[in-house]
Amino acid sequence: MTQQITLLGATGSIGSSTLNVIGQHADNYSIFALTANTNVDALEKLCEQWHPRFAVMNDTEAAEILAKRLASKEISTKVLSGEQGLLQVVEDDDVDCIVAAIVGAAGLVPTLAAAKAGKRVLLANKEALVMSGRLFVDTAKENNAVLMPVDSEHNAIFQCMPDNLTEHHSSVKVTNKQVKSGIERIWLTASGGPFRTFSADQLDDVTPAQAVNHPNWDMGQKISVDSATLMNKGLELIEAYWLFDMDIANIDVVIHPQSVIHSMVTYVDGSVLAQLGNPDMRTPIAHALAWPERIESGVEPLNIFDVAKLDFEKPDLERFPCLRLCFEAIKMGGSATIVLNAANEIAVAAFLDEKIKFTDIARLIEQVLKLAAITEDVSSLEKILEADAMARQISNECISAMH
Ligand code: NAD
Ligand code: MG
Repeated sequence: MTQQITLLGATGSIGSSTLNVIGQHADNYSIFALTANTNVDALEKLCEQWHPRFAVMNDTEAAEILAKRLASKEISTKVLSGEQGLLQVVEDDDVDCIVAAIVGAAGLVPTLAAAKAGKRVLLANKEALVMSGRLFVDTAKENNAVLMPVDSEHNAIFQCMPDNLTEHHSSVKVTNKQVKSGIERIWLTASGGPFRTFSADQLDDVTPAQAVNHPNWDMGQKISVDSATLMNKGLELIEAYWLFDMDIANIDVVIHPQSVIHSMVTYVDGSVLAQLGNPDMRTPIAHALAWPERIESGVEPLNIFDVAKLDFEKPDLERFPCLRLCFEAIKMGGSATIVLNAANEIAVAAFLDEKIKFTDIARLIEQVLKLAAITEDVSSLEKILEADAMARQISNECISAMH
């Protein structure tokens, strides 16, 4: 039977890699719904190609334009809009699997709804988990959702976990047993981004164009800037903390510029298991789609002789303070990671708009973490969204004060 897929964030980088994999396995997967923010042209093209049952545009006007265009071409896809539209295509009984690939906090509500609806959730949108942590994991468990990590590092760790941990078809359910399974430590690898070798002075002058030009991965703008500041690795640290239920002291970050090892797990007997491959998101996407089976992804097998050399370095928390701030936010607990995530989203947008410098991103986040009241109770969506809104307001005020 074919699995019905709702792809949230279909017009982005993960969206396009996902459609590429699904296109190679049309007998097994079919597209139920595709969603996008405002880009009518891009979603129109995808609807012509995939003929989904539903298309959702976040923007209402964009949805109206898309509906007219599809009608004029006699494409029967039904167009919905806004949060209500997203919830409808996530919760529909006919949907088996949700690929959560919206960028940023905008992905939280539909991704959490997918967990609540007990779907198979392919999680690319790390910000949703960073914001809702405990609530997300508990919701997935209570509703028997199958949570598959798409982020390459977390997917690699999942692949290096023992089989008995994955018997319940969910990385979340499994992980409480990790102590018994002899897992000692997990290692998140990081490429180091485009500025790995830059001095602190050089970092002061880097431009948005330089920041989005990642050496190994082709990604959306926001995650590219996050990779340049190492905030991406910090968000992934928080993601790993929740997904694998590990003590923060047992999660390490290692800079590995070749991006060939996608992460590692150390066991008590001294074994270190790693997952290797060419840096192409179609591998973790294919793994998460088909697990516990394996399907082809279209990614060339790794030529180990071409790789020849694997380097490892300690991350420099002085030059890349965003990573330090993530370690600190986890230790602070409560709403700290929500505040950090919100401040980062505002800071990255301001940097891309050339309103602040690259090095101001970390400065702003640190300032907002000090100014915002960190609240203990983050047990409901309302509380989480409240903390997010408050942090965004403070961040905008801080940016105004910088000028
Ligand atoms: P992208 O910018 O290329 O695409 C983002 C998608 O989200 C687009 O389809 C856009 O229309 C949609 N979107 C944006 N704002 C929205 C809103 N307010 N409401 C509804 N939809 C909205 O980003 P990407 O690189 O594909 O990354 C998507 C997510 O996956 C991010 O959370 C990122 O951290 C994560 N991720 C990406 C990669 C990668 O290689 N690109 C790897 C690991 C994890
Ligand atoms: Mg990653």
